[in-house]
Order: sequence, then C-alpha cells, then structure tokens
Amino acid sequence: MYDIKEIIEYPDETCPKCGKKGMMHIHHNSTGIMKCNHCNYGVATTEFWPIQLDETIYSLIIRKIDNISSKELNVIKKIINKSYPEIKELLSSGDYICYKGKADHIAKYLKLLKDNNISYEINPKYDYPDNQIEYASSYSYIDI
Ligand SMILES: [Zn+2]
Repeated sequence: MYDIKEIIEYPDETCPKCGKKGMMHIHHNSTGIMKCNHCNYGVATTEFWPIQLDETIYSLIIRKIDNISSKELNVIKKIINKSYPEIKELLSSGDYICYKGKADHIAKYLKLLKDNNISYEINPKYDYPDNQIEYASSYSYIDI
C-alpha cells in the first residue's frame, strides 16, 4: 500500500507536459512523485535532496554595482521586473533583494547570477552544493 506522508503544492511550477501552472510533490519517506494537477504527467523521484525539503524562505541579494554593464543589466532584468534605468538606479544606490523564496525556487536565479559573475549574498546562510543547485534549477520552472 502506498502510504502518503506529505503533499506539497507548487502552484507556481509549470508542468513540462501541458504547460499549466500547478504541480505537487507527494513525499513518501525519501521517495516521491512530482505530479501535475491538470494532466497525467508524473515523475517518480527516488530521493528528495535536502534542497527540495528545505522550507526556509531565503532572500537573494544582488550586491551594489557602480558601473553596471549592459550584459549585467540583461541578466538582472530576467530577475527584476523593472526597466533598465530603474535597475541601474536601484543597484547603484545599494544592495537589492531581488528574490525571496524557498531553497529550490531560488536556485535558478542564483545560477543565473553565478554563471554571469554577478556578486550576491543570500540570507540566511545557504550552503547547498552546486550539484543540488543545478538540479533544483532544472526542475524549478520559472519565467526566465
Ligand atoms: Zn500537466
């Protein structure tokens, strides 16, 4: 018998099959299924990594940038939904919290900053290894 331990809803996650938002993770000890709320898409996972089970809300902070390059602007524009002059203004005046979310949801934004050598800080301490960040950023579908 399949004994469901916990169901976590991910209303902002997009289904790779039907494209609608709303996924759920059904946890059963260390195994589980990631399932779509709308269609029959489901992926069995043999193990949930700590990054997926962390319920802490983290703040991703982009460090102050004095002379922002157009490359940096383009990257940051994917995270901050503001105009280029507004982003320039925000980041030249100080550190800026660009995203708040759970460990696995922050992963895609974090990867974007890391890949482009943009300096950042995360509060509270976020010390997941690259392979977990990589993994979480591959399934945590966000509009980038
Ligand atoms: Zn679906």
